[in-house]
Amino acid sequence: MPALTLRRRLGIGTVGIAVVLAIPLFISIRSLERVHKTTLDLRNGAFAASLLVGNLRQGTDDLRSAETALVYVGTPETRDRMMNQIANMRTLADSLDSFSLKSASLDVRLALDSLTVLANEEYARSSADQHEDAEAISTQWVRPRIGVIEQTIGAAEQVLRARSHDSVNAATDDTATAERAAIISMIIAILLAGLISIWLIRSITRPVFDLETGMHAVASGDFTRKLRVRPNRQDEFGRLSESYEAMANRLAQLDRLKAEFVSVASHELKTPINVILGYIELLEDGIYGKLPEQQREVCETIAGQARNLTRLVRRLLDVSRFEAGGGALECRQVNLPHFLDTLQSSFSVLAMQRSVHFQVNRSDALPREVRWDEDRMSEVVGNLLSNAFKFTPRGGTVELSAEFDRNDIVIEVTDTGAGIPPEQLPRIFQKFYQADNQAKASAKGTGLGLAIAKEIVEAHGGSITAKSVAGKGATFQIILPVAADVRRSGQFPAHAVTA
Ligand code: ADP
Repeated sequence: MPALTLRRRLGIGTVGIAVVLAIPLFISIRSLERVHKTTLDLRNGAFAASLLVGNLRQGTDDLRSAETALVYVGTPETRDRMMNQIANMRTLADSLDSFSLKSASLDVRLALDSLTVLANEEYARSSADQHEDAEAISTQWVRPRIGVIEQTIGAAEQVLRARSHDSVNAATDDTATAERAAIISMIIAILLAGLISIWLIRSITRPVFDLETGMHAVASGDFTRKLRVRPNRQDEFGRLSESYEAMANRLAQLDRLKAEFVSVASHELKTPINVILGYIELLEDGIYGKLPEQQREVCETIAGQARNLTRLVRRLLDVSRFEAGGGALECRQVNLPHFLDTLQSSFSVLAMQRSVHFQVNRSDALPREVRWDEDRMSEVVGNLLSNAFKFTPRGGTVELSAEFDRNDIVIEVTDTGAGIPPEQLPRIFQKFYQADNQAKASAKGTGLGLAIAKEIVEAHGGSITAKSVAGKGATFQIILPVAADVRRSGQFPAHAVTA
């Protein structure tokens, strides 16, 4: 299945969350509608029923008074009044059917049927002034019939009341069920929405994090780092990964080209500079005739500049050789005391020439053997010592110390020289950077020594830092594993130097 694009994933996620949250709303609305309907039925049914029962009771009272009138006044008016009342009661009794009270309705209708016959009999007697007979019919037959009607109405009222009670209970149950359904569906919806959100967030943050670490690696010069997001992924991240890979390859290629170019150019420069220097020396030695004073001065200036150029070219060659070789080290067993002895004897001469006190401190805990690239490391420490002597005036002190700290060798070069202004300290490891203290230097430099030193130290899996108080001196500290951790240094390939 092709990977979902970011846009589609966001769309699906948002719609999913909306739908999931809408479901409990829908369920709640449905439940509320049911409750509403029950309440309406209850209201309409109970109201209409109590109205009907009221009318029937009223009708029974009217029936009773119409019958009394008929018994004592036997006129067509009293007879019609009685018949109309019976018809009225019949209509009301029919209405009981619509409340599912069929037997009550039937009972009332049967009683009314016999009342019709009896009312005619009463009228016959009453109109013939046989009021006693009429009264006997009333007491014996009519009144009990009306009583039956009253009882039937009372029983129907009981049934209606019980029914209303049941309906109220049902409505209460419905409300509780609706509430439960709403709460449960809301909880499920929140859980589902949470799951969708987690899926959405993870599917975005994972590749973003991967890209971020990749970019970070590239920014710190590691162009070899591969992303976990494959470039053939069919979404925005796949395309980003593809661009990332193309960019990293291109940068690696450019870096190699740059190193090769510097290397070739430096080589090509070396020969003509040597030729110039050679001829100047010949001129100065008077091989081509004695030089007038002015020309001698010019020759000295040219020679000075040519030597500067030689230094620069040598440094550039160092850097480019290291970089072009991919920062590869040739680590082997190094005799640490011998390594320090060599440095001490090389710089003691310089110390004497400069009248600078040179002190070497070695901890007794130092191991005899370490595993480093000896040439590179002696270049690094040599560079730190050269700088220290360069910036330390006569009478000052330069100190080289070596200590053992767990698995690391800590080498420090301290001087009492010019020091470095604090705001410039973070930049001194950048290529070609020179601090504002050049006037205090006894020789010119190139600004490349510390950059290459940092590369070499980091390629060993170590670190280099500098501390200084301007005007008071500087301390450079190198922490190197006893056995160069080339794997750890893999993060810092040769081209990692910040230029
Ligand atoms: P350079 O060839 O100029 O010495 P580096 O890379 O070795 O180049 O040093 C960079 C700059 O750091 C130097 O130009 C100098 O300004 C400063 N620096 C390095 N070491 C010292 C030191 N021991 N005392 C004062 N400044 C120093």
